[in-house]
Amino acid sequence: MMAEAASSKVVGIVIVAAGRGSRAADATDGPKQYALLDGDSVLHHTLSIFLKAECLPSGTVVQTVIHADDRSLFDLATKHLKSTKALLPPVIGGETRQASVRKGLLALKAHQPDLVMIHDAARPFLNENTIAELMKGLESNSAVLPVAPIFDTVKRLHDTKVLETMDRSALGLAQTPQGFDYKTIFELHERAAKSDHDFTDDVLIAEYFGVDVHAVAGDVSNYKLTTANDIHRARKSMQESKEANLMTPFPDVRVGTAYDVHASEPGKEITLCGLTLPSPVSLIGHSDADVALHALTDAVLGALADGDIGSHFPPSEERWRGAASDQFLIHAMDRAKARGAVVTMLDVTIICEAPKIGPHRDAMRKKIAEITGLELERVAVKATTNEKIGFVGREEGIAATASATLVFGSKLVGEKS
Ligand code: MG
Repeated sequence: MMAEAASSKVVGIVIVAAGRGSRAADATDGPKQYALLDGDSVLHHTLSIFLKAECLPSGTVVQTVIHADDRSLFDLATKHLKSTKALLPPVIGGETRQASVRKGLLALKAHQPDLVMIHDAARPFLNENTIAELMKGLESNSAVLPVAPIFDTVKRLHDTKVLETMDRSALGLAQTPQGFDYKTIFELHERAAKSDHDFTDDVLIAEYFGVDVHAVAGDVSNYKLTTANDIHRARKSMQESKEANLMTPFPDVRVGTAYDVHASEPGKEITLCGLTLPSPVSLIGHSDADVALHALTDAVLGALADGDIGSHFPPSEERWRGAASDQFLIHAMDRAKARGAVVTMLDVTIICEAPKIGPHRDAMRKKIAEITGLELERVAVKATTNEKIGFVGREEGIAATASATLVFGSKLVGEKS
């Protein structure tokens, strides 16, 4: 409910990109916010985070504050942005960061924002979750700061002398974007401009004038590019995330398994793998009792998570009496095809004391390949006795197990079907 209330508000974004960034000079020719990361400037990456953020309401406007010398760099940085609808023409900053932010806030005034987020252009790894956290925080606070945890032990120093170890749990790293009630921060900036303080960030102004600042979870990856080393690190992590996105799709392979058994009785012939063979035992069943084809059918249905042979061909239905079981397997293969799946392997094991399977193995494989349209090498038929133990050993019945391997195309990890 609260989120809906916040999202109906107008949000202004101020991107501070007017600095000269001399500490990064070794890694880039010009100001660091225009340093190239993976072919696009730091500013480009930072702007696109806000322009794409789904947690920001649709009427959000983005105001960039640039240096007077950087107009052509700005145009280049924004040329390939996907959505520029919310991007306002840049305004020229002032002598200090504080003066630049004030100009950005002033330029937003015409859009009557309710809320504003002020962000350093040199933080291109901002996560949208942080923006969402700020939006949530702004529902009930007029100043919100993302704070990242500190993992290193922090010492207080006097010159080279270590004075004490600070309680790390009570400390955090201040980041941007910093979120505010627009009116509040606009008025505080007006007051700050009249004071002789130089405020290095906007939350500091709020603190100075006694406004409560609410901390929300920041993200250590949202670091500020300051030194040449930061830019090298940024290039590396941009490359890594690009590689992660280009991750080779893995084949979506699904395997179904199955077991079937039919009781036997003395007889003259038996149907196995679609072949009728001379045999001292026959199998009893509603259909032709082809235990091997039944197991294969169920294995295919298993890989499709599509019920089992009994649910597709209920034994209670008269039309399946004495039916040839190849139609069951053909039906399962058709179900796979309809789902866009390719059957790549069928493997069945027949467990019986008699008849001997070995002499018929190749004919059985050929028959299954013929029924299913698979290449011969994708069909395996195996057999074992049950060492004269159990119901199979006592020749009370014949069992079969099977597996079916299906490939559903290729997809990326976590991708939905
Ligand atoms: Mg059966």
